[in-house]
Amino acid sequence: MSLSTVSIHDKTFECFIADEEIQSKIQVLGKKLSDDYKDLKPLFIGILNGSFMFASDLMKNVSVPAEITFIKVASYSGMKSEGKTRELIGLKENIEGRHVVVVEDIVDTGITMEGIVSQLHSAKAKSVAVASLLVKPDCLQREVTVKYTGFEIPEKFVVGYGLDYDGLGRNLKDIYQLKHD
Ligand code: 5GP
Repeated sequence: MSLSTVSIHDKTFECFIADEEIQSKIQVLGKKLSDDYKDLKPLFIGILNGSFMFASDLMKNVSVPAEITFIKVASYSGMKSEGKTRELIGLKENIEGRHVVVVEDIVDTGITMEGIVSQLHSAKAKSVAVASLLVKPDCLQREVTVKYTGFEIPEKFVVGYGLDYDGLGRNLKDIYQLKHD
């Protein structure tokens, strides 16, 4: 049973996408990826922290041989993200010639994802595709192609299913959106 609202720190959030809906969408994405990457032995790269739940459930629905690894992207708190190259931390695999699928929780402005994709291309990946559970199309500031999208959502802050509000909320099974007062 989903909780209809949750309080995190000073804010109230209401249920937006229920667990069952998330899981059935992930089944569809997993099937599509399994069809597209049959015989290609893709390398999935989950972006920590937010993608850990999505990556886990997605991989359970990928039925072809595939590898998964996780990286972090250095964030620049207090600095403008525009124009910065974000460092990929923890990528040990040689991705030259590999078919790579970046697994992300949410694409908002697209600045983070643009940086990740361009660095993977520089590292000579054979192909780079993006799978993001959530995309906020109205917020996009970069030309980022998200080939495998779970849900397109409006410009509202969301938590749950891996996504946090100031450190909390990642463990919620459902996705919640900020409730207006
Ligand atoms: P972008 O570079 O696309 O603007 O930002 C992507 C990152 O911003 C995501 O990986 C996530 O960490 C954070 N983010 C963007 N929108 C939201 C949101 O609605 N909720 C949460 N919890 N994080 C968000």
